[in-house]
Amino acid sequence: MERELHPLDIISQQIGSAPLKQWLECSDRVAVISHMNADGDAVGSLLSWYHLLQHRPQLLLPNGCPPNFGWMPAADKIVNGDADRARCEKALAEADTIVCVDFNTLSRIDFLAPALSASKGRKVLLDHHNDVQTDAFDIVVSLPHLSSACELVYWTMRLLWGEDAIDRDTARCLYTGICTDTGSFSYSSEQPSVYEAAAALVGHDIDAAGIHNHINDTFSESRLRFYGFVLSHRLRVFPESRFAYIYVTLEDQRRFGITPADMEGLVSYTMVMKQISVGALVREESARIRVSLRSKHDVDVNRIAHTYFNGGGHTKASGGHTTVSLQETLELLESVFIHC
Ligand code: 5GP
Ligand code: MN
Repeated sequence: MERELHPLDIISQQIGSAPLKQWLECSDRVAVISHMNADGDAVGSLLSWYHLLQHRPQLLLPNGCPPNFGWMPAADKIVNGDADRARCEKALAEADTIVCVDFNTLSRIDFLAPALSASKGRKVLLDHHNDVQTDAFDIVVSLPHLSSACELVYWTMRLLWGEDAIDRDTARCLYTGICTDTGSFSYSSEQPSVYEAAAALVGHDIDAAGIHNHINDTFSESRLRFYGFVLSHRLRVFPESRFAYIYVTLEDQRRFGITPADMEGLVSYTMVMKQISVGALVREESARIRVSLRSKHDVDVNRIAHTYFNGGGHTKASGGHTTVSLQETLELLESVFIHC
């Protein structure tokens, strides 16, 4: 990967002359929002603003904070759109400034997109995905080569407030998102800046080992047995195509009492095989089929998610969905990765 300009320089250029620091600091009507089915990066980049800003912002997630991130400081302050849609819409309507973290298109906030669009508040995007819907935001800070939204938020805070403004809770949130979006520094971590950011965050006495435990050592017995089951019965491997996928039916999920959050990370098991370059997880939901794609080498799964699965993401980690049956989705996946 090419070495880029330092994030501090790029962020400074992208913010330009906008008085972003003032907008965020001087108002008690700031809302921060991230995407549906939040992951550690979404939750971390959202919560970090609660800790940094003295007028505490409203924190919004379309379908709330997944239980496995409930331990993060101030996770209980997040308003769940599914449970309290009116409160989320009111917060968006009344905000002077809306900070949008870890998503690139309004479709990622689902039913809250109209309220965001309609709001008179300034919309500031801080994101690391490709293909930003630029006309939806007033300021776009987009660095797709960065590891995570949390890294981007870290550098933004560093630029505008300096290292001393980042307290332990802010640092814990940001470090968590960097870890979850890089598989603990095993991918999306080619740029030196991610280690610089991590080193600075660890310097805030964050108990990094404890955070890794919170992220990784969280399985229930049934979740572990479910993983054993799908690896035995729901894994298909195509060595000649260097491709493998796992599929999960609704019945499988019911049988083991599994939630979508329990399948976070499952796709990466396809990638641990030496001969595999591209892996997928296909999981049945009640109204659609979710697809997660991962790539180790030069296959651009963002393009494939965009072309075939109504989605997107990053070159090496993307997601999307279909509205056809599970069987048809598997056939489509095989036709894309095997028969072409
Ligand atoms: P996952 O496979 O873990 O759900 O998602 C992997 C990456 O792809 C994440 O960075 C996520 O933000 C992105 N992603 C997942 N689903 C979608 C989608 O439906 N649309 C877009 N644009 N990106 C997605
Ligand atoms: Mn992210």
